[in-house]
Amino acid sequence: MSDSASSGVTVHETLPLRVLAGLGARHEIPRETERLGAERVLLVSTRSARGPADELAAALGPGLAARFDGPVVHTPVEVTREALAVAERAGADCVVAIGGGSAIGLAKALSGRTGLPQVAVPTTYAGSEVTPNLGETENGVKTTRRDPALAPGTVVYDPQLTLTMPKGLTLTSALNALAHSVEALWARDATAASDGLASESVDGILTTLPAVLADPAEITARERLQSAAWLAGLCLAQTRMGLHHQLAHVLGGAFDLPHAELHALLLPHVMGFNLPAVPRTAERLARIAGGDPVAAVSRLARGHEGPTTLAELGVPRDGLREAAERVAANPYPNPRAADADAITDLLRQAW
Ligand code: NAD
Repeated sequence: MSDSASSGVTVHETLPLRVLAGLGARHEIPRETERLGAERVLLVSTRSARGPADELAAALGPGLAARFDGPVVHTPVEVTREALAVAERAGADCVVAIGGGSAIGLAKALSGRTGLPQVAVPTTYAGSEVTPNLGETENGVKTTRRDPALAPGTVVYDPQLTLTMPKGLTLTSALNALAHSVEALWARDATAASDGLASESVDGILTTLPAVLADPAEITARERLQSAAWLAGLCLAQTRMGLHHQLAHVLGGAFDLPHAELHALLLPHVMGFNLPAVPRTAERLARIAGGDPVAAVSRLARGHEGPTTLAELGVPRDGLREAAERVAANPYPNPRAADADAITDLLRQAW
C-alpha cells in the first residue's frame, strides 16, 4: 500500500521460485538436487542444524561432495572465501543450505561467485531464502546488494526444522519477518500484490505467534507461522527496504549484533516514527492488529527474555550519533524524511 504513490504506474516483478512446503518436505531434498542435475552437492549448515544436515548427508550418499558448517551472521567475506575453497576443492555443482539466514546468506554468496544452483532449507523465519538480497560484511561495514541471480531457485519449508528454535529466537525471528511485511506496506514501490502478501503475513504472524510461544512444540501453529514468514520474505523480495532495515544493517554491521534481536527491538520504534506519515498503512495495520499496532508489536518485543534495548545488546550510547549520520547520509527510501537528529532521537528511544 503505497501512501505516497502518485505516478499511478506500479511495477511488480516475481522471481522464478519452486517451493516445497509441509511436514516432511525435507525428505524431498535429494530428489530436488537430482532435478537440478546435481551430482556433487556442497552442504552448508549451521551447527544448530547438525541433525537434519546429517540426515540429508546420509540420504545424498555419494551425491554429497563436501560439507561446510561454519556460516557466520552477516556473511563475513573471509568465511565466504573459506567456503569457496571447500566448494572448489570438492568440485561442487550445487549448494544446499540448511539453517537460518546465516547459512542461506553464505549459499547466496557462494552462488553469486560461482553460479552454482541453490536449494535453501530455512530453520528460522528470517525470510532470506526467497529474496535476491545479500548483505556481506567486510571490516565492520555491511553492504547489501540485490541481484536476481542470488535468489535460491528451490526452497524447502519443513516446519519440523523450526521446532528446535528456542522461545527467544522464535519470537525475535518472527518479529524479523514481521518487519519485512510492515516495511513492505509503507514501501514506495508497494503494489496490490505486495500489499496482499504483507497483510496476510502480518495477520498470520500476529495471530499465530502467541500460540507458538504458548506451546512451541505444537507443529500446526509452527507450520502456520512458517507460512506467514514465507510471505513476509516475499514482501522483502518485492519491495525496497526503508529506514527499519537500514538501521538494522548499519547497527548490525558496525557492532556485530544478533540479527533477529536487533530487528525485534527496533521495529516498534520505527513503526512509531513512520506510521504518522502513512495513515492508510496505519489504518490497515490497526484493522489487522485489532487496535494500536505499535502497542501490539511493542508488547511482543518487550516479551523477549533476552535483550530488548540497544544498550542491552551492547551498543554504546556514544555510537548512536555516528550510526544516525551514516543512515542519514545515504538513506534508503522511507515514507518519512529522517535527518541525523531525528534518527539519533529514534535510536536513543531504542537504547
Ligand atoms: P542465524 O542464521 O544467524 O541463526 C541465529 C542462531 O540461531 C544461530 O546460532 C543458529 O545456529 C541458530 N539457529 C538457527 N535455526 C535454528 C533452529 N531451528 N533451532 C535452533 N537454533 C537455530 O539467524 P537468522 O536471524 O535466521 O539470520 C540472520 C542472517 O540472515 C543475517 O546475516 C541477516 O543479514 C541475514 N538475512 C538476510 C536476508 C536477506 O534477504 N538477504 C533476510 C533476513 C536475514
